[in-house]
Amino acid sequence: MDVPHLQMYIDGEWCDAASGETFEVRSPATGHVLASLPKASREDVGRAIDAAEDAQPRIARLSIKDRAVLAGRITEAIRPNIEAWALDLTLEQGKPIKESRLEVSEVIPNLLWNTEDLKRVETPVLEGYSKPEMMYLLRREPLGTVAVITPWNYPWLLPGEFVVQALICGNAVLFKPASTTPISAVHFLEAMEHARIPRGAMNLITGPGPTAGMELVENPKVDGICFTGETLTGEEISHRAGLKKVGLELGGSGPLIVLDDADLSKAARDIALGCYNNAGQVCCANGRILVQDSVHERLVRKVVEETRRWKLGDPRKEETDVGAMNNEPTVEKVERHIQDGIRQGAHVLSGGERASGLETRLYYPPTVVDGVTTDMLLGNSETFGPVAPILEFHTLEQAAEAANLPRYGLSMAIHTANLRRAFTLARELKAGQVVINDPVLYWDYNHPWGGFRRSGFGRVAGKWTIEAFTELKTVILNVGESPLPGA
Ligand code: NAP
Repeated sequence: MDVPHLQMYIDGEWCDAASGETFEVRSPATGHVLASLPKASREDVGRAIDAAEDAQPRIARLSIKDRAVLAGRITEAIRPNIEAWALDLTLEQGKPIKESRLEVSEVIPNLLWNTEDLKRVETPVLEGYSKPEMMYLLRREPLGTVAVITPWNYPWLLPGEFVVQALICGNAVLFKPASTTPISAVHFLEAMEHARIPRGAMNLITGPGPTAGMELVENPKVDGICFTGETLTGEEISHRAGLKKVGLELGGSGPLIVLDDADLSKAARDIALGCYNNAGQVCCANGRILVQDSVHERLVRKVVEETRRWKLGDPRKEETDVGAMNNEPTVEKVERHIQDGIRQGAHVLSGGERASGLETRLYYPPTVVDGVTTDMLLGNSETFGPVAPILEFHTLEQAAEAANLPRYGLSMAIHTANLRRAFTLARELKAGQVVINDPVLYWDYNHPWGGFRRSGFGRVAGKWTIEAFTELKTVILNVGESPLPGA
């Protein structure tokens, strides 16, 4: 069967790399090659940056109304394709079709929410403090050219939080998706083309992160970078970006802490959801389960029971809860962490090795590992797979210490019936969000999203997205002494 060839989108045209080089995308679910795409060189990226730089002033001059209409047209172009694009997402990413459908469709309300935020931006007018004849008019202005670099775990949701939002804030955008999931990005661009985005306003670059992505990071004509990905990549980007305005959404190893007065059945359900959704390949997965010693045994029993309800299988089937993992290095990392745990005395209560008899070797079953300690990779780093590593603690101080130890700080959760204990502990947790009585995996349109420490910096979602893609400018106005009548 012929493999479809998809293209990049630069300066309003679908195109290939100047060299003609390509790369293939293979489905983790079936093992089949899904498409070939251009492998952009630094020169191709340079051409896209020039197009964006040229287009940006025209975008900045569009009225807010025109930008809102454009965003609306993009959502209308996505709507009829949700089912087909969800299937492509499942095939290239490996996640269950029911998750893919939700992911593609969520882009619509999210974008509309941010469009409303943009319509309602308010900036203050200040009176001069030392000079009463002066007024300070604050404005929010675009950054200029903005690179959006995204990972493979949410190929619709993450671009859906950033790329069009950056555009409607008046920026020209350079979008580089992960190389294992660029097909969703091509579909997103198809929707934008259908919505008649201005030429050069949105450019899609496909190709390797270390060269094509790094050109976006280093090129002096790029003004802002919105990066989502691994902490190590984020650190490199932060070193190489110079004085660009950078937002970094990085890794996590979010603990879900269960205190002895918690509703253990609810905690077990939340543990399964936050550990196995998207096969655990989530920045805000329940990375580690910290449980108070007196309820440890009861909770573990319930977690194992819940785990058995999560069905591993072909992600195209409606009944599948856990599909294929996205790529071999990620599965190998899960294996490495589990082997390290076993070597140091942890024991696997469910799952624990690759599934056999499925179409590829990338299927890993929901896994419970008990007896984990903070000396083990499962207890002190990001595993990024369908694993519930269980650690015990005795006091709240020990829980906080274990939670904060890996120095990730994206999302953390506490389960307890006692709000005073929840707040006492929440104050000790160094994270961008602390969720009480729900999974670590928690996200909504309108609260700030972002990490402390090794999970990055900057905040997005709701009005914070608009702030991230704009800068404040003060126009200083001399209105003169106010003359009294007859003076
Ligand atoms: P990654 O390896 O860091 O890659 C992310 C993106 O960066 C990809 O598009 C990649 O391109 C590109 N890239 C790689 N090296 C680069 C470089 N030197 N310069 C510029 N771009 C480069 O991360 P991943 O494995 O795709 O994603 C998983 C990670 O993302 C996890 O750690 C997860 O926690 C994190 N994440 C965080 C959030 C959040 O909101 N905080 C959300 C989702 C995921 P290629 O694919 O071509 O290599």
